[in-house]
Formats: sequence, C-alpha cells, structure tokens
Amino acid sequence: MSVPARPAAPAQAPADPNLPMVGEPAVPFFEIETLRAQQFIPVAKETLADLIAEQAQGKLIRPVFNWAGRNSLFPLHWGLACCAIEFAAAFGARWDAERFGVVPRSSPRQCDLLIVNGTVTWKVAHKLITLYEQMPEPKWVIAMGNCATGGGPFRTAYSVVPGVDKLVPVDVYIAGCPPRPEALLDGILLLETLIRERGE
Ligand code: SF4
Repeated sequence: MSVPARPAAPAQAPADPNLPMVGEPAVPFFEIETLRAQQFIPVAKETLADLIAEQAQGKLIRPVFNWAGRNSLFPLHWGLACCAIEFAAAFGARWDAERFGVVPRSSPRQCDLLIVNGTVTWKVAHKLITLYEQMPEPKWVIAMGNCATGGGPFRTAYSVVPGVDKLVPVDVYIAGCPPRPEALLDGILLLETLIRERGE
C-alpha cells in the first residue's frame, strides 16, 4: 500500500521591504505618542469645558437665574369669580403689585405663576389643567380665596371642585372670601421666599 505524497508547501511571497521587521512597532513610537496627544487634547478640552459649564451653571448661573425668576413672577391674566376683582385691584394704582416685579400676562406660555382666583367648577377644570400644562417650567400655583383653596361656600355643590389642589399642585394658599389685595401681595412675597428656600 503506497502512502500519498504530501502536497507541496505554497511558495513564500517575497518579503516587502516596506513592512516592519518582526519585533518592531508598525508606527514609530514617537508618532504613537503624537497621535495619542492629538486625540487626547480635544477630548480633555471638551471634558474640561463641560465640567466648567456644569459648575458655572450650578454655582453662578443658576442662583442668578433663580433670583431673577422669583423677582419677576408673571401671573396668568385669568379670573374665575369674585376673587378676580381683588386680583385686579391688587394691580391697580392703590396696591401696585407691579412694584414687586409681578406683571400679569395674557398667554400661559409667557407665565410662570397661576393664580386661581375664584370658584372652579368641574366644567372648567380641564381648561385650567390645559392652561397649567401650557406654562413653561419652573411654574408655581397660588390658590387665592376660600373657593380655590377648598370649594368655599359652594364646597358641597355637585358642580364645584373642592379645592384646586385636586387638579394642579398648589404652592401657596390664601384664605378669605374674598381675600384683600394685601393678602394676595403677602402670598406672592411668601411664594418668593419659598422659591428662594427651595433653590428653584
Ligand atoms: S372665595 Fe368668596 S369671594 Fe372668592 S370667589 Fe369664592 S365666593 Fe367669591
């Protein structure tokens, strides 16, 4: 029985004089270092810039932004019932709420404060929620008067929401039926204190 002959080994390709020898790096060492430095420096700069921006935002920009925001609250120009008359009086010449930087606006997209000043019925509840959701963050809510706070004299009526906090989160409650304009100004100043303490 004869043994088959082994296939001949493939012919070796001629060595390329440009390829590195065994044991030598494909790219000279100093070029690797240069390449690493070129890639490292932009990444390091970007990371450092992000870090500085984050620190600046947290320690410098954010407090200034909060200070400006809480001293220029823009309530929505929106009235529901008799408390709205007191709301309007607070912005008249006698009480002049604008001296605190509080300027009512007519679009929820320009407002950061919703003052609910009257009886809220279930029929209007979804409108109130829509207005609140259209306001940009950060935003706050004041329940002005007994009706907005807990339904007031109409609390047991089938059609009245027993407190606007069933619909939106309330930051400050103002008691009274109706509360006087001074009480509204006091509530606004209390809200400014809350915003400062919360760091919002
Ligand atoms: S709390 Fe009194 S004044 Fe204000 S909306 Fe209700 S009933 Fe009117």
